[in-house]
Amino acid sequence: MTTWDTIEHPSPNFDSREGHPVDMLVLHYTGMPTAEDAKKRLCDREAKVSSHYLVDEDGTVMRLVAENCRAWHAGLSTWRGASNINQRSVGIEIINPGHEFGYRAFPAAQMKMVAMLCRDILSRHDIPACNVVAHSDIAPTRKEDPGELFDWKTLAGLKIGLWPEINAKLPQKPAEALAFYGYDTANLPKAITAFQRHFRQNSLTGAWDDECAALLAALLAML
Ligand SMILES: [Zn+2]
Repeated sequence: MTTWDTIEHPSPNFDSREGHPVDMLVLHYTGMPTAEDAKKRLCDREAKVSSHYLVDEDGTVMRLVAENCRAWHAGLSTWRGASNINQRSVGIEIINPGHEFGYRAFPAAQMKMVAMLCRDILSRHDIPACNVVAHSDIAPTRKEDPGELFDWKTLAGLKIGLWPEINAKLPQKPAEALAFYGYDTANLPKAITAFQRHFRQNSLTGAWDDECAALLAALLAML
């Protein structure tokens, strides 16, 4: 049960999950100059994109597509061997202009509602913590959202997704370890950058280093 007001803002862009259960939660930023632009696009038949929810910077939560339907937010994506991510995920779009139009911090009021919405979704679906992902996690060659300013650590403290604490330094081959966690590593530097954008946000080098190895080892130990 939700304890806040969700504004119905229906999008025509959805279809059937064809019976597939939900086992992923995908977080995005909108990457449009204004919130109005994003709202229009997510409801534009021609654009053929949508999400289940949209969270404005003031914390307003809009429902665009019912959770039992498939929204169109992930595009060409892969995670832990699965490729039809829309069919199995709930998608949340979070208003932010993004890297293209002036990437900025996510306001506290917005993050508070993102957290409450995520908790609510996780209470209703069987979604493993490692399946709470960024769009950039599942499409590392195409996407950067929600980006390195997104506060995954605080969310993980609320049992939304994972955040690694370094407690071990195990040698490992990055391609193997990243693939084991779920990344498509066909383009390894992009996969490493996506990993850093989620889990080592202060240094997006695209190159593997000891800290990345230790963080991933800690994550793998949580699986
Ligand atoms: Zn996205």
